[in-house]
Amino acid sequence: MYAHYGTTPMSLPEAIKSYRSLSSPEVLVGYSVTGRTSTALVESGPSNVTQEYLRQACSNISAKKIEWIVVSHIHIDHSGGAWRMARELPNARVGVYERGAHHLIDPSRLIISAREALGDVLEVWGPVEGVPQEKVVSMKAGATVDLGGKTLRLIAAPGHAPHSSVWYLEEDRVLFSGDSLGIFLNREGNQLLWPTSPPPSYNHDLAMETISQLKSLKLDLICFPHFGYTSSIDKAFASIDETFSKWAQITKSAIENNESFNDTLNKVVQASGLNQVLKDDYRRKLVAMDLRGMLMYQESARAHSIRK
Ligand SMILES: [Zn+2]
Repeated sequence: MYAHYGTTPMSLPEAIKSYRSLSSPEVLVGYSVTGRTSTALVESGPSNVTQEYLRQACSNISAKKIEWIVVSHIHIDHSGGAWRMARELPNARVGVYERGAHHLIDPSRLIISAREALGDVLEVWGPVEGVPQEKVVSMKAGATVDLGGKTLRLIAAPGHAPHSSVWYLEEDRVLFSGDSLGIFLNREGNQLLWPTSPPPSYNHDLAMETISQLKSLKLDLICFPHFGYTSSIDKAFASIDETFSKWAQITKSAIENNESFNDTLNKVVQASGLNQVLKDDYRRKLVAMDLRGMLMYQESARAHSIRK
């Protein structure tokens, strides 16, 4: 049993390495998976982490061996730096779920929508450019990347966004969860979690279906890009189910009762024990964005049920 969210390296399966402290504020944790023939980096992160991510990864893996960068989805904190990473890694191609592939090649619409959802947070993550088309491998759900005895399978994971996916390392039963299971933090031994439910396309019903589908996988380890990994699978899913459901109840009643945004924010903060997290300006903005996304979903679900 191991759970790790700090900075001390702990035992991961031999094929996997994790990379932390890639930027300040910390945007994501990178991972690599190495097979007999090649290595994949899981998520490129945004372009402000590329240099440090590659410095850490290439301290024990030859850059030439990195043939894949697999991304869970095209949100900028996950793959906004894929263009820069692909430029630094001559042999690497970027594996992405087909529903997001065109945004990797031409991110212009993505940048506009990210700016609307994120405001100045976007600037923290560095510039976004298109990945050359010949470097992008658009993949269907169920498609696999073979690293030589290590197989990464893409699983569609709609809900967080329609183009969302996760990667499953079959031989080691490891899930790289993208944004499908929430933001996972550990504060002095307390597991804290909040839903990854950004506007404008978060769909709560689909997100819960995805969570229940992922729960049915055989899993020994979950690697969260935000932030760290755990082998306490049942505990993690119990906390994911509970938190997503609580937020859904609170936001549904907020819409019905016309509550102010700040009152609702206070309620989700209390319900998820996030008071400490909100002292950090960057994380406070992200929590507020996810709350706006879930409220937007509840509002349209309500309008839809009234129309019926
Ligand atoms: Zn995302």
